[in-house]
Amino acid sequence: MVLDLKMKRRSFLKIAGVAGAATLGLGFGRPVIKALAQGTDAARDEKWVSSVCIQCPAGCGTKVRVVNGKAVKIEGNPDHPYSNGKLCPKGYAGLQFLYDADRVQTPLKRTNPNKGPDEDPKFMKVTWDEALNDIAARLNKIRDEGRSHTVAFLSGRNRGKAGTVWGTFTKLYGTPNNLGHSSICADASKKARLCIDGTDDYCAYDWENCNYVLNFGGATLEAWRPTNLMLQKWAYMRRGRPVRAKQVMVDTRYSTTAIKADEWLPVKPGTDGALALGISHVILIEGLWDRSFVGDFKTPGRKFNAGEIVVMEDFEEKWTSGLIDYWNNVLTNFTPAKASEITGIPAERIIRIAKEFATTKPAIAAGERGAGAHTNGTYNHMAIHSLNALVGSMFAVGGVMYQMGVPYASASLKDDNYMDDIAKNVDKEYKAHNISRLDEAKSDEWPLASNVYQNIPDNHAKGKPYKMSVLFTYYTNPLFSMPNPQRARDAFKDVFIVETSSYLSETALYADYILPDNYYLERWQDDTVYASTGYPVTGLRVPAVKPVFDTRNSMEVIIDLGKRMGGKMGEYYTQLGSFENMLHEISKGFEKTPGDNGVNSFDSWADKGAWYKKPYLYRFNNGKFYEWDGAGYNKEMKKTEEEIEEMKDGKKVKTITVKDPVKDKLLKTKSGKFEFRSSKLEGFTDKQKEILKSELKSPELFAYPHYEEPHFAGKDEGFPLHMSSPKMITHAEGRGANTQWLQERFGVVVGKGWTSWVELNPDKAEELGIKNGDEVWVESPIGKIKVMAVINPGNPPWMVVFPFEHGHWNYGKYAKGMGANPNEIMANLSAVISAQSCTNATMVKVYRA
Ligand code: SF4
Repeated sequence: MVLDLKMKRRSFLKIAGVAGAATLGLGFGRPVIKALAQGTDAARDEKWVSSVCIQCPAGCGTKVRVVNGKAVKIEGNPDHPYSNGKLCPKGYAGLQFLYDADRVQTPLKRTNPNKGPDEDPKFMKVTWDEALNDIAARLNKIRDEGRSHTVAFLSGRNRGKAGTVWGTFTKLYGTPNNLGHSSICADASKKARLCIDGTDDYCAYDWENCNYVLNFGGATLEAWRPTNLMLQKWAYMRRGRPVRAKQVMVDTRYSTTAIKADEWLPVKPGTDGALALGISHVILIEGLWDRSFVGDFKTPGRKFNAGEIVVMEDFEEKWTSGLIDYWNNVLTNFTPAKASEITGIPAERIIRIAKEFATTKPAIAAGERGAGAHTNGTYNHMAIHSLNALVGSMFAVGGVMYQMGVPYASASLKDDNYMDDIAKNVDKEYKAHNISRLDEAKSDEWPLASNVYQNIPDNHAKGKPYKMSVLFTYYTNPLFSMPNPQRARDAFKDVFIVETSSYLSETALYADYILPDNYYLERWQDDTVYASTGYPVTGLRVPAVKPVFDTRNSMEVIIDLGKRMGGKMGEYYTQLGSFENMLHEISKGFEKTPGDNGVNSFDSWADKGAWYKKPYLYRFNNGKFYEWDGAGYNKEMKKTEEEIEEMKDGKKVKTITVKDPVKDKLLKTKSGKFEFRSSKLEGFTDKQKEILKSELKSPELFAYPHYEEPHFAGKDEGFPLHMSSPKMITHAEGRGANTQWLQERFGVVVGKGWTSWVELNPDKAEELGIKNGDEVWVESPIGKIKVMAVINPGNPPWMVVFPFEHGHWNYGKYAKGMGANPNEIMANLSAVISAQSCTNATMVKVYRA
C-alpha cells in the first residue's frame, strides 16, 4: 500500500490520535475514544495531577497529565522520594488499566446460584442502591442469627487508612475475620525479625551508605519492593559514588539480580540459612565480630574455636543477648565444611565471603521471599538477620533500620464507642480464645502469624474452626493467587462472595455481587510506604479523572454499607461521613510536622502528592545509640530511672521506673537487646511450643536461628527438580495480565511475551531430550501443566524456573487463556512459626509434551 504523502498535518494527527487510542486497548465508537478524538481540535485544558501507583506494593508517587479530562500520560513524581521522577514499566502501563474496556463497568449481581469455573454466573446489572441494600440486609440477618463471626473480609494492598476502614468495619460488625494475604508474600522475614530484634516489619536499609550487600533471595532488580527505588539505589551504589559497593547474590536461580551482581552463590533450595550460619561461624572464629555491638571475651584477644564450648561468664555481651548459647548450641560445629555440604557452595568461598562481609563495613545481610518461602523459611531469615548484629549493622550508618510511621493526626471519632453488644461480645470471645479467625492466625498452631491466607479454603471445607458465610474480597484473588487454587475453587462454591475487583477475575466469577472499585487514578487514597528508606513517607492519590465507568472507591462503599447497616454502626459511619473526610482529618498531623517539601495541609499534600521527613531519627555509633536532636545525632539514648511516690493502702510508697529508650524504640525484645536466643519464642505457652516443636527436626533448637532441613512436596515420589516461581519486573501480581504493554514485555529477560515458559539447564534439557521452544509437561504431585521450555545456560541443573503472572482462566480478553499459572501445580505448605506460604517447596518432573 502506498501512503498518500500529501496528507495534511491535521489529518495525520487525527489518525495518530486514533492509533494511539487503539494502543490503549479501546475499540472504535467507544465514548472515551470519541471524546479523545474530538479533543484534538478543541481548546486544551491541561493539568498534572498527583497520584500513587498501585501496580505493586512499592507505592511510587506519580504525576498524571490530564488533557480535557482524559489521562494521557503518567510520569514519576520528582517530589516523591521513592520514584524521584521515575517509574518501572508497570507504572507507565497505568493508562491501559484505566481505559481497559474489559473492566467491570457497573455493579453486577449473580443470578445463577451454581458456582464453578465452567458455570456462567449470569450476571445482571444492578444499581449501587440495590446491591448495597441487599448486602446490608444479608449482613444484618447473619448478625441477628448470632453468626457475625462467620463473615470474612479478605484484603490486600490496603496500606494507610484503607486498612483502618476494613479494620473498623469488622470490629463494629463483630467478626475477627479481618484477613490479609501477607502470608503468600514475605511474612517469614518479618516474623524472623520479630523473634530476634522485636520489630514485626520488613527491614529498612541504608543502601546509600552501604559498602557490601549479601542478599539472600531478594530480587533487587526485579520485584523486591520498592522495585523502582531499588533500581535507583543499585545504580547509585555501583556508579553514583566514589566507593563502589559489592553486591553478592545468594539465589537458587540465575536471576537478573544474580547476573548483575559481582558474585552469585547458587545455593541449593531452602539452604540460605545454612550458608548464613556457616558465615557466622567464620566471623566468630576469625574474631571479626563487632565488639562495640556484640561485646567481647573478658580475656582480651580470645577467640572462638570450632567445636569448643564457651562458658557464659567468660563473655560480656553489650547489645546482644544469648550469643554464647547460640555458639554452643548452633554455631560451634557449623563449620564452612558443614555449610558447604548443605548448600553446595565450596567451603573456601564461604570463608572468603564471610571475611569480606565482616571487614567491608558497613555491610548489610538482606533477604526476602526466596529464602523465606520454604518450610524452614523463618529460621533461614533468623540466621540471615543475625549476621547484621554480628557485624554491628543494626541502626548503624549503611546498615539496617526499621521503617518509621507517619505522624497522622488521630481520629476524633473513636470506633470503640460504637461497638454494640454483638460486637463487644465477639471481641471478648476472640480475646479469650473462644473464637478463632477462619485462617487460625494467632491460634496455638500459629501464635505469631499475621495471616494464614493459603489455609482458608481447607479450613472452610472442613468447617474448622467453622464455616464461612460471607467473603468480601479487595485487591486479592484467592482463586488464582494461592498455591493449588483448585482448593478454593472447590471450597468456595457455597460461600456468598462480594468482590470489588476492577476485572472479572477468577474470584469475581464466583461472586454473588461485584461492586467494582474505582481505578487508582479515579480515587482519593493515602499510601504509606512499606519499609525501605527508614524515614517516614506517605503519598496521596488524587482523582486524576472522573470515573470512566459506574465504579466507586471501595473505601467509600464500605462506609456507605456501614451507614445502611443502621444501629451503632450506622451512627458511626454517619458521623464519619466519608473516606475523604478521614484523609482530611489525618492530614492535620502535618500542620505540626510539616514535610521536607513544605507539605503542611491536605491541599499541599494533594498538590505535591507526598509528605516525607528526613533524616532517620536513630543511629548506632561506636557502642552507643543516639537520637537526632534537630542538629545531629547528639542525644544519647540512655537508660534512666525515675522515682515515683504513690499512695497505697493509705501509705506513701516509692517505686522506681526504669526508662529504656533503646528497648522502647529500637530493640523491642524482652531483654531490650538483639536476641540470638529468642525470648519471644521461649515465651510461648507450653501447648504452643509443643505444637510448633512437633514440626521441627531439631526441636531443641526451637529458640535459636538454626538450620532446619526443609521439606519438599514430591521429593520422595519421583519428582527430581525444584520449582521456583519468581516475579518478573513486568509482573503486577497477576493483575497485569490484561495489559498489552506488560504482556508484550513480560519475559523481557528471555525474549518472550504473551506466554509462559519454564527455564531449564542445557545439560538437564539434553538429558530429558528437550530443545529450546519445545512444549513440555511440568508435573508435580498436585497436577501437570503444558508450557514452553526455554534453555537457560545460567539455570542450575536441579532448578525449574516457572515465572508467575499468567494462566488466568478469566480476567479479560488478553489475559484469559494466556500462558500457565505455576500455582496450579504447587503444593500448599507453610513455614513453621511465620506461616509464610512455601512457594519454593514443590518438586516437579519435566518431559516433552
Ligand atoms: S515500582 Fe511498583 S509502584 Fe513503583 S512504578 Fe513500578 S509498579 Fe508502580
